[in-house]
Amino acid sequence: MNKTHPETEALHFRINNAETHPVATPIYQNSAFTADSPYFYTRKSNPNNVEFEGALALLEKARHVISTTTGMSAIMLVLQQLHPGDHLVINQYIYGCSYKLFQRYTEHMGITLSIVDLSEPSGRENIPDNVSMVIFETPTNPFLKTIPIKEVSDIARGKSPGALIVVDNTWATPLFQNPLDCGADISLASATKYISGHSDVMGGFIALNDDTLAEALLETRFYSGAILDPNSAWLLRRSLHTFPLRMREHVQTTQSLYHFLKTRDEIKIIYYPEKSTQQLRDYGGILFFQFSEEHQHSYAQFIQSLTLFDTGTGMACVSSMVAQPWSGSHASLCDSEKTAMGINTDLVRLCFGLENSQDLIADLETAFLSLSALETHE
Ligand code: PLP
Repeated sequence: MNKTHPETEALHFRINNAETHPVATPIYQNSAFTADSPYFYTRKSNPNNVEFEGALALLEKARHVISTTTGMSAIMLVLQQLHPGDHLVINQYIYGCSYKLFQRYTEHMGITLSIVDLSEPSGRENIPDNVSMVIFETPTNPFLKTIPIKEVSDIARGKSPGALIVVDNTWATPLFQNPLDCGADISLASATKYISGHSDVMGGFIALNDDTLAEALLETRFYSGAILDPNSAWLLRRSLHTFPLRMREHVQTTQSLYHFLKTRDEIKIIYYPEKSTQQLRDYGGILFFQFSEEHQHSYAQFIQSLTLFDTGTGMACVSSMVAQPWSGSHASLCDSEKTAMGINTDLVRLCFGLENSQDLIADLETAFLSLSALETHE
């Protein structure tokens, strides 16, 4: 028989329901298990977590997946593996809350923090010596810059053989990018985004191959209580069934919308990630653009005219969203930190849902035309 694809295996992955044989595993909404159960206590593990993690492990191509309450708690568990005196390197382009967490945690713990532009060859060469961990997103939030995982791993390990390479895979998703295959030690993500896909549940996970590190992370999760609850694990596992379908639709819509946005004079630059067979096999869901000079203050007017895009920081779900990184995803940064990252008020993030792409194009066109109408009235 031909080998099946990871998405088929993930769809069919089920925990052992030896007696009842349900087609979908029920929610184990309980905190404790009897002494003869293979489970112990839900803060340690639960059948719904195990099924969600097992399905994800197939997609991430990982020996271990550890599910967490949110994407931020996945990052926190990984950070907790560092010790005072260690050295953490992060990429310059990164989600606002991650940036703040790295800043606060390293300061509090006496860990050195270096911020490097890993999107540029010169930045990668500048990865310092004696690094304990390198964390970066690819594609990045914002600007969708692609960071070459293999190259960063080789350079960092060349200088510091024990350096842990950690990739935030939230925006690529395990369907289109497998960081562990590219040389990373850890791939982590917010499951709140594409994995959930419906803006109704939060979660996160850490995928890795190393047994000892997995044991340490599981212990930290157990003692800190960062495990995903069974109800959320069940919802996320259900969402995983339609995950590849949704992603393929996001890809199609994003391509149509990218071509449409390229025709608009109101836009100066559109940000779209670099794809490759070695790393990012496909991409869909989120684009950024910058308004042209004359429309740089147009965001408020622009969103007023949109009817199919919800405003706010949520994203990667069935309904389209529009957001301004300056006041949304990166609001926790001070103005100088935002501008150092290249974020200004003219930067817009569009997340495309599962609406018909022609309807989204028509909605955006009306919003762009409303800006010119405003100009003629002024
Ligand atoms: N990583 C990235 C790239 C994100 O964009 C986000 C949230 O937007 C997170 C991590 C945090 O995830 P969560 O909101 O599930 O904690």
